[in-house]
Formats: sequence, C-alpha cells, structure tokens
Amino acid sequence: MKTRIGFFDFTGCEGCQLTVLNLEQELLELLELVEIVAFREVMSEPSGALDIAFVEGSICRREDRERLRSIRRRSAVLVALGACADNGGVNALGSDRGPELLRQQVYASDLAQLQTDPPQPLSAVVPVDYRVPGCPIDGPEFLAILQALLLKRQPALPDFAVCVECKLAEYPCRFDHGEICLGPVTRAGCRAICIDGGDRCRGCRGLIESPRTTPYHRILEEHGLSVDDILDQYRTFNLGEAKP
Ligand code: SF4
Ligand code: SF4
Ligand code: SF4
Repeated sequence: MKTRIGFFDFTGCEGCQLTVLNLEQELLELLELVEIVAFREVMSEPSGALDIAFVEGSICRREDRERLRSIRRRSAVLVALGACADNGGVNALGSDRGPELLRQQVYASDLAQLQTDPPQPLSAVVPVDYRVPGCPIDGPEFLAILQALLLKRQPALPDFAVCVECKLAEYPCRFDHGEICLGPVTRAGCRAICIDGGDRCRGCRGLIESPRTTPYHRILEEHGLSVDDILDQYRTFNLGEAKP
C-alpha cells in the first residue's frame, strides 16, 4: 500500500507548496511511491488518516488551531514546511505591534472583523516531528527529507553555517561590501543561493544549534559587530525563534 501524504496550508504565501509543485519530474516519479490525498493547490482537503502531513504557514486565527489539531490527530508524522510553519517566519514580524496597529498599518483602517492573532509556529499548538526550513523551502532538501521518511530513517538537517557553503563556492563575502550577512549563524543547506545571486543571507533557514561557538566570530570582530548585532538582523525571518 502506498504511503498517504497530504499538504496543508495556513497563513503564508504558498511559495513552499509551489516549490514542491515545481519539482515536476521528481514529483511525477514520487507519485509511484506515495498517494497524495490532500493538496489545496490541486485538490480539496479530504478527511481520513495520513502517514505524513506537510503543513505550510503559521497559525494566526483561533479556528486555525482546531484545524491544525485535527490534522495532527489523523497524521502519523507531521512536518513543518517552510519558515512560516517552522518558526513563524516573516509573519511573526507582526507580533510586536498588536492586531489593532497591524490592521491600521496594512489596511489604513482598524477592520475589527479581521482576526489577526499574533502569528505562531505550528509547534506552539501541536507536536511537530520534523521540519523543512527556508523561505521558500529547498526542493532537493524536501525530496531528501521525504525519502528518509519513506525509508523510516531520521531526516537530518545540516548543522553548520551558510558560510561554509559560501566559502566552498568561493563567493565574494558581503561583509567586504559593507553589508551585514547572516551566513555565520544561519543553517546551511541552500548552497548560499542568495550570495550567489549578489544578495546577502537574511537568515531564512533559521539559527544553527551553536551560533556562539562558530569560528566566524572573527568575521564579526573584523567588522566591529557582535553576535547580538546579527541576532537583531535575524528578526526578519526568526522573530518567533530568536526572541531578542
Ligand atoms: S516560508 Fe516563505 S515561501 Fe514558504 S509560505 Fe512562508 S512566506 Fe511563503
Ligand atoms: S558572511 Fe555571508 S557572504 Fe560572507 S562568507 Fe559568510 S555567507 Fe558568505
Ligand atoms: S542564503 Fe540565507 S536567506 Fe538565502 S536561502 Fe540561504 S539561508 Fe535563506
């Protein structure tokens, strides 16, 4: 019998689900191994038991919590898909100003009928078994994590910094261009794609386990910065996690 998997979304831009859909050929091959029983991008949400639920987006409304608990109850394994689900992502930026001010700033009017509770990661509501980091997720990493789950193996994420991938690729360092880059404290796995594209790392894949013990303190010291300066920049994607 095929493994039954489902994709569910809460508050987010659906970019992580689109990354899965963009896998195209790999996705078609995947369908020989699994049965996709829920995927709002292509089908309506059914009921019934699931082997693996991939859940995108953060939890921003009261009814979201009950829907997420229902998905958790019928799923053997639940995976947070992307930064919004994993740690609140960019949605968590709204947490520090309150729903009234947020509605005023976004809609220029306090539309009280719009429910906007402080955005939370999935783990604030239900136990989360595994996570696929990033905004958006990395397609090959998603496939590797799914493959591990299908083989009943423990999926593993890189526990070293983006700087390692960046230096191996010999990209020019953004600090040398007067920018603050979050590569020294951010989990690798994206192949330093933003630095390759001429930007800096903005920390979308979350914090590595021991940012204060990395050998990259020297980079910060050379540029007159501390880890706390970097954590301040880190709020863009990780306010729910960093709690500065
Ligand atoms: S993590 Fe990024 S790409 Fe994924 S749903 Fe959230 S905002 Fe969109
Ligand atoms: S600080 Fe940024 S640009 Fe510099 S090596 Fe690290 S990841 Fe690359
Ligand atoms: S370089 Fe940084 S911001 Fe860009 S995808 Fe990688 S972790 Fe995310």
